[in-house]
Amino acid sequence: MLKSTGIPTKQDLETVIPSKERLAKGPVAIIECFQKIPCNPCYTSCKRGAIKEFADINDRPELNPDICNGCGVCISNCPGLAISVVDETYSDTEALVKIPYEFIPLPDEGSFVTGLDRSGKPVCRAKVVKVLNGKAQDRTPVVSLAIPKEYSMVVRSMSLDDYYSDNTIICRCEEITLGEIREYIRKGYHTVDEIKRISRAGMGRCQGRTCTPLIMEEIERATGKKVADQKVHTYRPPTVPIKLGQLIGGEDNE
Ligand code: SF4
Ligand code: SF4
Repeated sequence: MLKSTGIPTKQDLETVIPSKERLAKGPVAIIECFQKIPCNPCYTSCKRGAIKEFADINDRPELNPDICNGCGVCISNCPGLAISVVDETYSDTEALVKIPYEFIPLPDEGSFVTGLDRSGKPVCRAKVVKVLNGKAQDRTPVVSLAIPKEYSMVVRSMSLDDYYSDNTIICRCEEITLGEIREYIRKGYHTVDEIKRISRAGMGRCQGRTCTPLIMEEIERATGKKVADQKVHTYRPPTVPIKLGQLIGGEDNE
């Protein structure tokens, strides 16, 4: 998987993610460098000695999570963009994830972006807490994102587009926003059918082909009920109202 797609497997990740006990103590680096390559700036940049000395330049980095304090210096020095720092103690509900980000423009601190997983799939809304632009030393910029805690090991990239803003239109036919859907979920409408009936999302011409999966994902995010365990509402063919006269005799422009 890693060799063909560049995306590490769950098994790959299990070898580098620190223990729950260590994560509960504060920020720590996660080094997703899985292949033997001639490279070692992670080791030379860590002044705490948290990365074991390389016996051979091709060695894979070996982190001692008990020495690492999650400072993030190694993130901006790694040419492979292989390092992130996760702080699961950031708040009761959110984790802080520091990631390398080499695109321009850089996000503004305080803005909201979309957190992406390792394959680039949107996962959640993320708040930009800090941006280190790395210009002074010509290093990789580092962006700190506050994200829902359950995605601390999932979000490893970001998109400047804020797909998850309350203003995002979820149902284009009926012009229902994500904020409205969230409000209905907060009020206790926890099935896609209930939300369809109360909001009309999914009753437009497309019969929910776009909004239904998005609403189900939002229900999963808000309630934890997996999309696979939710019931889809009935799809009906797209129809438009027509006058009786059109049925009987047709009209010039039909
Ligand atoms: S986060 Fe800081 S302490 Fe931890 S490995 Fe990187 S440079 Fe060292
Ligand atoms: S600097 Fe980055 S790419 Fe190079 S060995 Fe260290 S983690 Fe791997």
